[in-house]
Amino acid sequence: MGALEDLKFKHCKDSSEEAPLPTDIDRQKSLEKNRSPDKGLLRCLIDALGDLIYIKDRDGVYRGCNKASENFVGLTEAEQIGKTDFDFFDEDMAEVIRKIDREVLASGREYHVEEWITRPDGRRVLLDSRKTPFYGPDGEVAGIVGISRDITERKQAEEALKEANRELEAFTYTVSHDLRTPLVPIIGYSDFLRENYRERLDEQALECLSEISKSGEKMLALMEDLLSLATVRKLDPPAEPVDAAEVANEVVSGLSGQLCLAGVEVEVGDLPALRVPKTLLVQVFDNLILNAIKYGCKRGDTIEVGGERRGERVTFYVRDHGPGIPVDERESIFDVFYRGITGQDKEGTGIGLATIQKIARLLGGRAWVEETPGGGSTFRVEMVDIPLSPPGK
Ligand code: ADP
Repeated sequence: MGALEDLKFKHCKDSSEEAPLPTDIDRQKSLEKNRSPDKGLLRCLIDALGDLIYIKDRDGVYRGCNKASENFVGLTEAEQIGKTDFDFFDEDMAEVIRKIDREVLASGREYHVEEWITRPDGRRVLLDSRKTPFYGPDGEVAGIVGISRDITERKQAEEALKEANRELEAFTYTVSHDLRTPLVPIIGYSDFLRENYRERLDEQALECLSEISKSGEKMLALMEDLLSLATVRKLDPPAEPVDAAEVANEVVSGLSGQLCLAGVEVEVGDLPALRVPKTLLVQVFDNLILNAIKYGCKRGDTIEVGGERRGERVTFYVRDHGPGIPVDERESIFDVFYRGITGQDKEGTGIGLATIQKIARLLGGRAWVEETPGGGSTFRVEMVDIPLSPPGK
C-alpha cells in the first residue's frame, strides 16, 4: 500500500502522533487498535473518489496514488511507485508537468492549473489540477500532493453551449435586422393610403389599413428590442471612468418629450463614476426610466435615480412610487417576453428588463427589483467596476 494515507501535513496535526500519558495504557491500546481500521477507511475513501490523487517526492518520484490515478495511467499503484512522469508520458508532456511541480516545490504554495495531458493510451484530456506541497518531519517541503479532475467533457459542453449561444445571437440579429427592412415600407404605404386616399376608401378598408399599420408598429418595436438584446455584448472598457450622473442626465434630456407628456420629473442624485462602456449604461437608464414613466408614475410624480459604490461593486437604482411589482413576478419580469400584470393594458414586448439583466451579468453583476418603502418599485442594477491598470502596466 502506498504512502497516501500516511501523509502528514505541516498544518494538520495527526492525533496518533501525540505521546500518550505513561499511565494512560488503555488509551494507547485503543489507539493501536483503531489505527489500522482508520487507515483502511481512509484508503477506501481516497480510492472511491473519482478525482486522481497522487503524491510525488521532491525528485518527481511517485510515492503513491489512488484507484482513479491507476486507471488514468493504466498501471497499478505498486507499478507507479518509484517511477516518474517520464516513464508514463512523452518527454515534452513530462517536462511540462515537472516544471509546474518544481514551481510548487520552490514556492511552497498551492498551484491551481488546467493542463491538457495526453494519456498513456493516447487520449487527450483536460485536467483541472491542484498541487499542494507537503512537509517532512524536518519541516522542509518533501514533495507534492496532486488532485486532478478530468474536465474534458465539461469544457466541451461549455464550448458547445458558447457556440450555440453565438449562433442563436447571430440568428436573432439577422432575423430582427432583415425582417425590419420590409416592415418600414409596409407601415409607410398603409399610412400613405389612409391619409391620401381617405375619400376614395370605405370605412372597412380604412380600418384594415389602420390594423396593418398598428401591427407593423408592434412588430417593428419587437424587432428593435430583439436587436438590442442580441447586440448586447462585451465591449472594451473605456480608458477613463464614465461619469454616470452625466449619462443619466443625457438620457433624461432625451426623454424630455415623454416626461413632459406624462407630467413626471426625474431627480438624478450623486452617481459613482466607473469604467464600463457608456452605451451599456445608456441602455440601462433609458429602459428603467422609460418603464418607470410607463408603469410606475402618475402626473406630478418624481422618479429618483441614484447609486452607490462598495469596493469594486457599483449599484445604480431607479425608483418610482407607482403600483410596484407583485412578489411572485419579481423574478419572471426579467425573463425574455415576460409581461407583468402592470403591463397588461400597455404596449410592450417584454424584452427591456431581460436586456438589462444581460448587461448586468456581462458586467459581472445582476439586476433585481425591490419594493420602494411606502410603495412602488426600486430597480437595482449591480456591476463590477474595472479598475485602472497601475501605471506602466
Ligand atoms: P415591457 O415594458 O416591454 O413589457 P420589460 O421587460 O421592460 O418589458 O418589463 C416587463 C414587465 O415588468 C412589464 O410588462 C411590466 O409589467 C413590469 N414593469 C417594468 N417596470 C415596471 C415599473 N417601474 N413598475 C411596474 N411594473 C413594471
